[in-house]
Amino acid sequence: MVQTILRNRSQAPTQAGPSYSIQITNVHKTYTNGTTALSDVNLYVKPGDFLFVTGPSGSGKSTLLKLLYGAERPSSGEILVDSRPVHRLQGDRLALLRRRLGIIFQDYKLLPRRTVSENVGFVLQAQGYGRGEIERRLGPALKMVGLQGKADCFPDQLSGGEQQRVSIARAIVGTPPILLADEPTGNLDPDNSRQILGIFKKLNEAGITILITSH
Ligand code: ADP
Repeated sequence: MVQTILRNRSQAPTQAGPSYSIQITNVHKTYTNGTTALSDVNLYVKPGDFLFVTGPSGSGKSTLLKLLYGAERPSSGEILVDSRPVHRLQGDRLALLRRRLGIIFQDYKLLPRRTVSENVGFVLQAQGYGRGEIERRLGPALKMVGLQGKADCFPDQLSGGEQQRVSIARAIVGTPPILLADEPTGNLDPDNSRQILGIFKKLNEAGITILITSH
């Protein structure tokens, strides 16, 4: 059985307590091949928290994030994100919840034949935003990650750190209240890692709830 090391002052919500950004209660996840990735996980994250979920490779960190954005479902237990039961949502309702989340991956997941602007604007376009609004949002998002000068570059013209910054801009351009990042500095050297963590710190100071996995 795998155990996830969760470092926060996780406290079960009281009835009259504050609302939580994330509530994970008694969650188990066993994949169809019989591998148990998570066992009895409880986690309560308040709005504005900045949380690292740490554990060795294979301890269930990615699985935890996948449950939070609804790419996997728990075998049992309950997951509320922004007070919505993500483990029961499907289709449009799941898509709507995902707009409340910015998601960042270790391998950036950028579209290689699209420029920085297009990679960042694409999400908004898919959500039906008009050109004017996309233009209005692009500048501040790129500025937040220090990439104003790289708007017309393609991913292969950027360093790893810059590519990760594009993926952060893409995650925040829709102004989600919660950011989930799966080992975001896993492919980066210490300098770039520090820079990325500095950006997360700024975003958290701006009020975004942040959950980062790290080994
Ligand atoms: P981490 O992110 O901490 O490295 P993961 O959540 O990726 O851990 O994996 C936790 C465990 O679940 C591992 O034993 C892994 O092999 C297993 N696992 C992950 N995804 C699947 C899957 N789709 N099917 C079966 N087992 C999986």
